[in-house]
Amino acid sequence: MTNPFEFAKEQLIKATSCLKLGQGDVEKLLSYKNVLEAELEVDGDNFTAYRAQHNNALGPFKGGIRFHPDVSLNEVKALSMWMTWKTALLNLPFGGGKGGVSCNPKELTQEKLEGISRAYVRAFYKNLGPDADVPAPDVNTNPRIMMWMRDEYERLAGKPCPAAFTGKPVDAGGSLGRDEATGRGGFIIARELTRKLKMKPEETTVAVQGIGNVGYGVANLLHFNGYKVVGLSDSKGGIYDPEGLHPERLLKLKFEHGSLQKVCSVDKEAEKHQLVSNEELLELGVDFLIPAALENQITKQNAEKICAKVIIELANGPTTPDAEKILADREVMVVPDILANAGGVTVSYFEWLQNRKGERWKLDKVNTELETYMKKALSEVMAAAGEYSTDLRTAGLIIASKRVLSAMK
Ligand code: GLU
Repeated sequence: MTNPFEFAKEQLIKATSCLKLGQGDVEKLLSYKNVLEAELEVDGDNFTAYRAQHNNALGPFKGGIRFHPDVSLNEVKALSMWMTWKTALLNLPFGGGKGGVSCNPKELTQEKLEGISRAYVRAFYKNLGPDADVPAPDVNTNPRIMMWMRDEYERLAGKPCPAAFTGKPVDAGGSLGRDEATGRGGFIIARELTRKLKMKPEETTVAVQGIGNVGYGVANLLHFNGYKVVGLSDSKGGIYDPEGLHPERLLKLKFEHGSLQKVCSVDKEAEKHQLVSNEELLELGVDFLIPAALENQITKQNAEKICAKVIIELANGPTTPDAEKILADREVMVVPDILANAGGVTVSYFEWLQNRKGERWKLDKVNTELETYMKKALSEVMAAAGEYSTDLRTAGLIIASKRVLSAMK
């Protein structure tokens, strides 16, 4: 069994050895403030729920809540540690947390989902709040779920607390641009790399694994900015077309027909696309490969077969440390999750700020600020990679762990 928590530790230890930190400091960085677990009982069914709070030296714990059958304690622990590094790298006044409920939302009614969302808040209420721990959407959770959670939180608090959750619907205290922020952040990184590597968008091919909020968002922005999105996939399989795909059209059809591959059997235009498995999608000969689904996708089993020039991690933890070594030897550049997918939490920060200050930012302001944060973090990571002669992930972790450690001290 692969254990993302072991991977998260291994990545950090590599960075701390570049910094020549002592054992005491490494232990400080690896230690958890709280790891919480609860059984949620909702209309006669039980669901296990978690909230891992890794580090809050820089500010309240921050990070999403996912609903997925594979959610486990080790997974949320790893994800919460990655959130600590992500918020620190982006210079946001937050620490790292992550939560999850082991359930399959595809099989649940809206009533049950609402029940789970509200029960989650009741279970962890004492540890949450705008100054304590601010959750947000993650895999299979969305603005609606954040709205239920905010509502439940306020019921218990007996007062309005809009800043207790981010990623809310815009009409319920959410920020413009939050929904597409992770995809947009990934797009900004892709565009900046295109410039730095002196590539041309129209000659740059892209494959995106996952067509959820994040994968769709980045694919769509790349497509409309002239990039050639040649591969796309959902959990049932992938499609490929060297002539390019139309993400927006395909997503609409996917909603009607159930899966991308099904679309190819019923739609005249989509019939031309080739069907590929999820494994084959990762192995396509593209310039940018964007995993935007779950962790552990690029492993030592398939790393030799990855033909992409650059991997831009929009999922959390898609590349294992074993795979990363193989990719480094093969000179495949990996833009780490803690940088590439930080657009979401960055706009979550803007939402939290707006809620606290009683402001409403225009979309232009949100996107301009997001761009500033993403570009700054990218340049800092590039500079640190040069300074320490290391890969981009280790460079990001070096910057983040220095900031966290100095705040702890
Ligand atoms: N779930 C997202 C992430 O992994 C967003 C977290 C947030 O907005 O707090 O970064």
